[in-house]
Amino acid sequence: MTAHDPELGRSNRGLLDWLGLGQRGDSAVQRQASPPPRQERRASLQQHQVEEVGAFLGAHKLEVNARTLALAWNYLSGADGRIVRAIDRRLHQQKPVTVEWIDEELGFAEEGEEIALLAKLMERLEHSIDEFGKTSRDAQFATSEYQSALEAHVTELEQVTKAGEVISELATIAKVMMRRTREIERQMLRSEAQTRALKRRLDEARRSAGEDHLTGLPNRRAFEATFEQEFRIAQTECDTLCVAFCDIDHFKAINDSHGHEAGDRVLKLIAESLARISNDRCHVARHGGEEFVVLFRGLSADSAFAKLEQLRQQLAERRLVNRATEQPFGQVTFSAGIADVFACGDPRTALRAADTALYRAKLNGRNRIEAAVPDDCLPPQIDAAA
Ligand code: GH3
Ligand code: MG
Ligand code: MG
Repeated sequence: MTAHDPELGRSNRGLLDWLGLGQRGDSAVQRQASPPPRQERRASLQQHQVEEVGAFLGAHKLEVNARTLALAWNYLSGADGRIVRAIDRRLHQQKPVTVEWIDEELGFAEEGEEIALLAKLMERLEHSIDEFGKTSRDAQFATSEYQSALEAHVTELEQVTKAGEVISELATIAKVMMRRTREIERQMLRSEAQTRALKRRLDEARRSAGEDHLTGLPNRRAFEATFEQEFRIAQTECDTLCVAFCDIDHFKAINDSHGHEAGDRVLKLIAESLARISNDRCHVARHGGEEFVVLFRGLSADSAFAKLEQLRQQLAERRLVNRATEQPFGQVTFSAGIADVFACGDPRTALRAADTALYRAKLNGRNRIEAAVPDDCLPPQIDAAA
């Protein structure tokens, strides 16, 4: 009996092929044990990219956030020559790559650009991680199947009483390969755990990129994305959509009288009150400073107005006290403008109309809500030069 004796069966030929001792051929086990070469190459390249980004951040003790991810990616991919040159120079000087140095030396483009880059980068990393995870699971499945086949066969071989030289050699090789297979399985499990950890960190970084740190509400960028999405859903489902712009009245006076920290607490409290009405069809976000936006889907303009009006009244009835000093904040109110998105045509125009209506609410005495009128949806007038 030779190593290629048909009696050895398919799994032995597969084993020998895998060991590099067999002839190249179409082996079912070989096909199972390893993914097709192109997929394998792509997965290993993707794993390599993810590992390189992770290793770069780890080596320089940099947190995973928009800046550092963008920096690592641009450096490692060579996409940004300025970053490559600056970091190479820094490393050549044997100085650390720190966040402070990044800010000072490289600065960063507009926040918007940085965030857009982060979004793109995360999408690519996430895709790589998913692909790698899938390939790794397929390979694990294949190796454990292979392992079972080997184990069964080794037991058979050991039971053959007239074990010839070839058989006993084959059994030895098989045992070595079983050990190797187990090692590979362990490595794969480790890689998968690392991949999952990196994915979790990416998810956290993404969440924090869309969150306002003071109030925990979605920030303006996240709101803009939600607005576009809700607009598309409302269009498809022939739903109504209204947007409101809210601004705290005389908020500067609160800061001036009670200090910025107390002002922050008031902002948080108002954010909490507004957030109470949020659900999967009502989205509340901090647009910036002491301004909040609310999106209502599936409510008529009148119902959305009434819902916001109820919130306004509830807040106006409260008398807030500065916990740190026991001094009263007194009445804290907000004014708002609200617009029907489809009456205005599109989200951007509707937000501008709501802002114009808010301005009217301020002019009309504050602590009130004004609904946008058709004129508010017109493009802004540019005065002719005198
Ligand atoms: P109005 O009724 O016309 O809106 O008056 P206002 O004082 O609310 O408006 P103004 O635009 O004059 O002032 C807004 C203030 O909000 C100024 C700014 O310092 C304060 N502010 C913006 N963001 C924050 C923040 O995060 N925390 C604190 N404490 N204050 C903030
Ligand atoms: Mg304001
Ligand atoms: Mg204000």
